[in-house]
Amino acid sequence: MEKKQFQAESQRLLDLMINSIYTHREIFLREIISNASDAIDKLAYTALTDDKVGLNRDQFAITITRDKEARTLTVSDNGIGMSKEEMEENLGTIAKSGSLGFKQAMEKKDDIDIIGQFGVGFYSAFMVASQVTVISKKYGSDVAYKWVSQGTDGYTIEEAERDSAGTDVIMVLKADTEEDTYNQYLEEYEIRNLVTKYSDYIRYPIRMEVEKSRKKEDSPEDKPEYESYTEMTTLNSMVPLWQKNKKDVTEEEYNAFYQDKFYDYNKPLRVIHFSAEGQVSFKALLYIPSKAPYDFYTKDFKRGLQLYSSGVMIMDSCEDLLPEHFRFVRGVVDSQDLSLNISREMLQHNRQLTIIARNIEKKIKSELKSMLDNDREKYEEFYAAFGRQLKYGTVSDYGAHKDSCQDLLLFYSHKQKKLISLKEYVDAMAEGQEKIYFAPGENKELLSKLPQVSLLDSKGFDTLLFTEDVDEFVPQTLMTYQEKPFCNVSTEDLGLQSEEEKKAAEAEAEEKKGFLTFVKESLGDQVKEVKLSKNLGAYPAAMVPDAGMSFEMEKYMKRVNPEFAFPAARILELNPDHDTVKQLQSIMTEDPVKAKDMAQLLCYQAQLMAQLPIDDPYAYTDLVCRLVK
Ligand code: ADP
Repeated sequence: MEKKQFQAESQRLLDLMINSIYTHREIFLREIISNASDAIDKLAYTALTDDKVGLNRDQFAITITRDKEARTLTVSDNGIGMSKEEMEENLGTIAKSGSLGFKQAMEKKDDIDIIGQFGVGFYSAFMVASQVTVISKKYGSDVAYKWVSQGTDGYTIEEAERDSAGTDVIMVLKADTEEDTYNQYLEEYEIRNLVTKYSDYIRYPIRMEVEKSRKKEDSPEDKPEYESYTEMTTLNSMVPLWQKNKKDVTEEEYNAFYQDKFYDYNKPLRVIHFSAEGQVSFKALLYIPSKAPYDFYTKDFKRGLQLYSSGVMIMDSCEDLLPEHFRFVRGVVDSQDLSLNISREMLQHNRQLTIIARNIEKKIKSELKSMLDNDREKYEEFYAAFGRQLKYGTVSDYGAHKDSCQDLLLFYSHKQKKLISLKEYVDAMAEGQEKIYFAPGENKELLSKLPQVSLLDSKGFDTLLFTEDVDEFVPQTLMTYQEKPFCNVSTEDLGLQSEEEKKAAEAEAEEKKGFLTFVKESLGDQVKEVKLSKNLGAYPAAMVPDAGMSFEMEKYMKRVNPEFAFPAARILELNPDHDTVKQLQSIMTEDPVKAKDMAQLLCYQAQLMAQLPIDDPYAYTDLVCRLVK
């Protein structure tokens, strides 16, 4: 028979698995059982609407068979089964759900040990088996197929016999070597152990013949004799984790369930296990991951929670249960109040579901808030992974979700040199401070040097340093927080001047009108306007954007959508009290050529301080040389 080859990347992973000396190889059983359970889930779901399935909920089972002679361990299920094409597709390729993430993690780390923490699926069978045979019959089909592989040399598929729908995975265990024992996987004790350790929560019975002993019927009571016999026994407790009492579940169990079910090799950052009664009763087991999945900030990432109704999974990823701003949450929701054979379309408009979703949103918000208040270190870890998502949540839909998000935001405080919440900012506001000041820019160090920030600092007013592109949209959407308006320190009036000072400034601007016009004309189209500013501290000039679009947004647009990007209008601010500016004004009439050069130099410097590129660095160099001569 013709042998087919595995796809290249599958082959590489397979080699790694087969050849590694590897202490966590026992997880193979968990992986094979999980697949069996998933396959039963699918058929159990079909059975809700299709009488032909002919199995009751309590007839679904996973069976483990040991054969010491043949050295085989077999895991059978009466689930949905696989067609020939599905075998080809699912067992010949590794680029499937969990395996894909694994592969990427692997490429980054090249550390074989991560296999142990990761659901790698079917292929893990090759860690213990020298040959794997899969016999499967798809529900509704007349033919069964047999897939056989010894790992590295490809696989074969041919027709086979099987009575009813389902799958057998038959593993021929490798021979023991000096370092490695595989025989243990034929022992009742070991299999029992592994099932309890990794698969106890599986909701279908995992059954196996186990040895028992009983008193021989005809042996005398005072001198009993015993005989052994075997009996089919269920090894797992079958209570899904979320149905258990919190106090009966260990941290390891919570973590293992998460890692297995959601294909994450990191432990979750937080577990939220709760139940609700009332209009709708439900149980939820939710997890906040510790790291963002590699595709989290792309449109490939699908949000959603697994939805069960009385223990039967009715949807793998129910979007409507989870608001977009909390899309990082993973987990399971189970409610007996949802009708089992509800169609997916109807589910979307289901009243119970809306109530559950609202409850879940509230719960997530309060858990995050309590983490923020009581476990700041952990919250910051969370925030590093998902803070950006909360900012998106705040600004999306014109701020419709701000109540869920705004209290969870953190920004870097110039004064406190750490991340603080908006509430913490407002609580710490100085006497007489009316606004929430923020400075947008590329990096914290340069922003700290902004003259406006120093000026505010000298009055005891803090500035939030905004370095992420989405940051600036937050004040634009919120407008105020606890009734305090936001103020962009580089473009808006800081509100520090008294009425007299304002009047004096206006008078000065009027008096220097001719000078400002001269500078504007010298610079031409490079700037939209030239103004005086009292906020520049020790610096002669600053470049600020005209109201409406900031330089950061300009850069952001250039990156995201270069074709449609346009520059923010530039305004040159001059410090009338600075010597250079005074000097420029004084030579304006007697040496207009030099004055024009000086105006240009101030413009270049202002651009540099604002981290804007200089279009013609040659002209800049010529200019500096000319002026120092
Ligand atoms: P994953 O479970 O992450 O998708 P696996 O490598 O474990 O990856 O399995 C690949 C696919 O093979 C599964 O998604 C499923 O479609 C199919 N499969 C594996 N085992 C079974 C089984 N016992 N019954 C039906 N399909 C199965």
